[in-house]
Amino acid sequence: MDPRDTALQSSCPVLAAPRFGPLPDMTNGQRLIVAGNGLFVQVRLDWLDCVQCLTPPVGLPLPYGTVEERLKFSFGVLPIRLIEAFVQAGRQGLPDEVAGVLIYRRGTRGLRLALCEPLYASPGRIEYRRPALEADETVAVDLHTHGRGLPFWSGDDDRDDQGIKVAGVFGCLHQPKPKARFRLALNGWYKALPHPWQQELLELPETAGTGWNRPLETGLIHRILRRWKTQGISWNT
Ligand SMILES: [Zn+2]
Repeated sequence: MDPRDTALQSSCPVLAAPRFGPLPDMTNGQRLIVAGNGLFVQVRLDWLDCVQCLTPPVGLPLPYGTVEERLKFSFGVLPIRLIEAFVQAGRQGLPDEVAGVLIYRRGTRGLRLALCEPLYASPGRIEYRRPALEADETVAVDLHTHGRGLPFWSGDDDRDDQGIKVAGVFGCLHQPKPKARFRLALNGWYKALPHPWQQELLELPETAGTGWNRPLETGLIHRILRRWKTQGISWNT
């Protein structure tokens, strides 16, 4: 094989899921797992161990094992206390956007909040400098606000979220309860994550003629979220 292909493929090897034994351990990095129930990506970092399904089964019966999705953090659960401290900083920065990070330290297996120094900030955009990191530190959670605007993932956000991280965006900070969105970002692949500020997103717009039965739809979303809550990531309160 061309040594360049060897180098490229060693940076993201492909593994067939074992049918009878456990998945072999892996060092920090990324690999693809071809399993009987789909194609998965596994990512290991100091703070992260996750297996996520990229595509459902291809339709061809494969003699491989099945794999379950997982999302585990070395720091345990996402700390609401630190994120609420960021929300408070976001409110103080109104009407402009504010950015911050939760930094993981390998030595303590803990997180700390650091605000990012704004180079330019307005109600619609922020450019900022990331805080300096110690040798055993890495950014695990990237946070920013949309000020009084709604939380959503903009094109700028997609460009910023090219690495491996949990990303959160808060909006409507002038209201008593902010709105938020969270997602897991794996090198440009995104998956929405449930979060404690979710309730606000359940308020469906009062638009007529959409064909939606509001109580039924809300109940469906609640059922999905309950399932998420039991299977998904955990937060401390
Ligand atoms: Zn944004």
